[in-house]
This record gives sequence, structure tokens and C-alpha cells, in this order.
Amino acid sequence: MHTITLIPGDGIGPEITKAVQAIFTAAQVPVQWEEQNAGQTTFDQSGELIPQALLDSLEKNRVALKGPITTPVGKGFRSINITLRQKYDLYQNVRPAKTTEGIASRYTGVNLVLFRENTEGLYSGLEVYDERLGISDSFNRITVEGSRKICRAAFAYAAKHGRKKVTLAHKANILKMAGTLMLNACKEAALEFPQIVFEDKIIDNMCMQLVNKPEQFDVVVTTNLFGDILSDLCAGLVGGLGVVAGANIGDDMAIFEAVHGSAPDIAGQGKANPTALLRSALMMLHHLGEHTHADRIEAALDATLKTPEKCTGDLGGKASTMEFAQAIIDKL
Ligand code: NAD
Repeated sequence: MHTITLIPGDGIGPEITKAVQAIFTAAQVPVQWEEQNAGQTTFDQSGELIPQALLDSLEKNRVALKGPITTPVGKGFRSINITLRQKYDLYQNVRPAKTTEGIASRYTGVNLVLFRENTEGLYSGLEVYDERLGISDSFNRITVEGSRKICRAAFAYAAKHGRKKVTLAHKANILKMAGTLMLNACKEAALEFPQIVFEDKIIDNMCMQLVNKPEQFDVVVTTNLFGDILSDLCAGLVGGLGVVAGANIGDDMAIFEAVHGSAPDIAGQGKANPTALLRSALMMLHHLGEHTHADRIEAALDATLKTPEKCTGDLGGKASTMEFAQAIIDKL
């Protein structure tokens, strides 16, 4: 039995979390949930944005499933996602993007996994504003160690999963120092994995190539900001944010989360698609070594996706979140 820290989150988070829990219960997955929360709702109730009890639970269980958390724009508290990623050095943000029968997309044959560096770069939190001069500086901190870790993780994943190629997306032509650190780290990792083809592309060309011919990519690795943008672009190639999984992985902790936000426009209406959180939960099962359970639920999900009328409105169906979950359970 695995004990998992469960963070339902805000907005549609609790609805999609319930759907995933119902599917796991029906499939008799050997997990027990330890529910904790963070964010605005928690702050309103307890005065704590990230309660100590949540941190204790994460440190004990080392694996969490997390719903989306509302982050105020421009003001207010720092993103809880970024705080947790940095506190626990969850340096890999892993985002698979695969076209699936039944999910509308302009593309076929997309099957890539993006590795985004998750703790450094422009999101390292080093930002200053000089009010007198009206100047803001945001520092793009890249370290040799951080670059080595994420590049090595991408190659190690490629080797373990029988993938053939790693592509680095960078801007070393302009960011001569920061960009070059990452390029050199990838070249180093490539020497360790000679069976994997290594190529690098400048980020602007990478965007064009991804839109034009995404099926050419296999494993992609990049820095934090580029990865944030590219990963949503990749989600758009395969059906959007409602269907793609995400994981924040460190050497001794992992937090799996839906990639989309808290969707305040549809919260509480039973319209939310649980696929993204479910797919993240399936990544979590693989991480825990529960491959048989993961494969069985994935097969039930894929079978349900082939009948769009049993899915939520964003996939062209009429089902509520829980009806969609029930349809998946019926296919187990
Ligand atoms: P969003 O992803 O919440 O919503 C964008 C659009 O996609 C909306 O129209 C929404 O209805 C739709 N959508 C999203 N998820 C869906 C689902 N599962 N099923 C059906 N439709 C879905 O993005 P936003 O509106 O830019 O952000 C809202 C809040 O979420 C913000 O506070 C933001 O900071 C936060 N956010 C959190 C995370 C996270 O915790 N990982 C990620 C992104 C955004």
C-alpha cells in the first residue's frame, strides 16, 4: 500500500480529484490518500498558505498528486507550485504529449516528452524593481549543476524508455553564457548515452518546427521559461491543457499534477475534464512501480475517449466529470 499526499487544490481541483479517486478505488489500486491543501482557500481558513502539515506529509510520503492552485496575477503570494519545486529541488518538469484517438487535434503521430528545468532560469525568483528609475531586472540564473542534472535526466529517460533522440531547445546564439551552459551540459550527457541521437535547435526555430512537423521530436529538454511555453504549445498539439499530464520530479520526491489551472469559469459545475489529472496520476503509478494498474486504467481511459459522447464538453461530449469517470470505470 502506497500513502500519497493528495492536494485537491482550488477551483475545479476538488471535482477532478474526486473523479480520479473514484477510478482508483474501482480499479483497486493499492494507494491510500493523505489529504492536505494549500493556497488561497487554506489561507482564508487557517492563515497559512502552505501549512506545515502539508510539508510534513510530503516529507514523509515523498509522492503527491496535486490539483491546480489559483495564483494571483502581479500581486499577492508567490506561486505555491514554484515554492514547492524549489524547496524540494524538483528539478525535472516532465510533460508527455501524445496524440490519442478520440481527442481532436490537427496532428497525428505526435509522441514526445518534454523535460523542462524546473527550479532555475527566469523563474528563480531573483527579481528587483527600482521604483525611482522605473526599471525591473529579472535574473536568468542558470547553474552548471542544474543544467547537468536536467540534461542527464532527459537522456536517462530516453535510454530507459527506448527513445531514440534528445533535442535541446536553447538560445545560446544570444544568451551566450546561460544558453551555452545548457548546451555544454547536454553535449556532456550525450557522451554518456552514445546510443541516443543528440541535436540542438534555437528556440524560435524549435517553435516553428514543433508546429510544422511535431512528429520529428522524441525527447525535448530545455530551460524553465522556454519549457513553460513549449510545454503548453505541445499540449495544444495533442488536444489542449485538459488532457495532458505533468510531473515535478526530484531525486527523492515527486509531485504529479494536472497541467491546467483552476478554471474558475467552470468550477463547481461538473464540467471539468478529469483526463489531465488522471494521466498525471497514471505517471505517478509508473513512478511507484505499479505498471499493471497504470496500464489497465490507461486502456479504460483510451477506450472511453473513443466514444466522445461519454466525455466532458471540452472533448465534444455531454457527460459531467463524474459521468465521464463512471464511463472509465465501466471499461476497467
Ligand atoms: P486555466 O487552465 O485554469 O483555464 C484556461 C481555460 O481552459 C478555461 O477556459 C478553462 O475552463 C479551461 N480548462 C482548464 N482546465 C480544464 C479542464 N480540466 N476541463 C475543461 N476545461 C478546462 O488557466 P487560467 O484561467 O489562465 O488560470 C486560472 C488560475 O489557475 C490562475 O490563478 C492560475 O494562476 C492558476 N494556474 C494554476 C496552475 C497549477 O496549479 N498547476 C497551472 C496554471 C494556472
